[in-house]
Amino acid sequence: MVDPWALTQETRMTTTRPRRLSLLQPTGRLTLGNFLGALRPMAAQQEQADCFYGLADLHALTVTHDPAVLRATVAEQATTLLAVGLDESTLFVQSRVPAHAQLSYLLECVATTGELGRMIQFKEKGRAGESTRASLLTYLVLMAADILLYRPEQVPVGDDQRQHLELTRDLAMRFNAAYGPVFLAPEATVPAVGARVMDLAEPTRKMSKTGSRDAGAVLLLDPPDVVRRKVARAVTDSDVGPDAVRRDRDAKPGVTNLVDLLEACGGSADGLTTYGALKRAVTDAVVAELEPVQRRYAELAREPEHVAAVFARGAERARAVTAPVLAAATAAIGL
Ligand code: AMP
Repeated sequence: MVDPWALTQETRMTTTRPRRLSLLQPTGRLTLGNFLGALRPMAAQQEQADCFYGLADLHALTVTHDPAVLRATVAEQATTLLAVGLDESTLFVQSRVPAHAQLSYLLECVATTGELGRMIQFKEKGRAGESTRASLLTYLVLMAADILLYRPEQVPVGDDQRQHLELTRDLAMRFNAAYGPVFLAPEATVPAVGARVMDLAEPTRKMSKTGSRDAGAVLLLDPPDVVRRKVARAVTDSDVGPDAVRRDRDAKPGVTNLVDLLEACGGSADGLTTYGALKRAVTDAVVAELEPVQRRYAELAREPEHVAAVFARGAERARAVTAPVLAAATAAIGL
């Protein structure tokens, strides 16, 4: 049997940088919110950490899906991860690293239906509906496998993911107690603050790729004229005073969002007094921020075999890194 503590040592010897793991769900098209809140910070992490970034296509199967759309979304997101400059990272598609699904099954054998049914997201997304997929109940076990396979010591999680990381820790410790010390229970840390972008049409909710009914969500690949139109239609308010352009999250959520967006894209609202001027400044800043990404995306879209090769190499490394952990868990549980 593989000694799991030797694994840790081996890991530390081969890399002095901490591991960082993040999976994106290939559901829907990526938005400006995904870029400013996740992809840009992920690119910035690459210097300090040994980053594994994946597309969680198995997770995308937990709700009704169309196979052709899923395939197209994975291809678009894979190209996007390269276009935003994540080429220093290990990039992979989750289903190409079978250890994820394999470890998930072993962890299902220490998880209970009771604890999974109590997870807030499961309750919200449709518990026990006639057509609720069983995989929606177990997807948090898959998420635990995603994390535990890479043995990160810390996992940055937002508030909505805290309960999920707690489950990961519980499963790791329960498995270790029952079958021997295979897993490291990672600690939750506060994520680096990325920008939080609100919907342009409904500024009290997050700009999101699922349910982005176009108007309020700027897509990462929207051409400049579409960005211009969406920003021009963004909700503001009827305040026309001299200090109308200011942050006030409660009273002026739309304007606050535009000011935040402008700053996140390197601009400033200082000296702007009208909403028209603010929207023009936001449009210019967003278009300028997205331009290099879109240019690189267009180049990469012409060489899909390059993108495929990068992801094939990434999956190979992910398989190599995760194999000893899966082997240790498999042996410990008695298979
Ligand atoms: P999701 O699109 O919800 O699957 O989220 C993928 C990643 O993008 C997560 O790290 C989110 O925190 C981030 N993200 C999604 N929407 C936004 C947003 N509107 N503002 C900032 N970050 C976001």
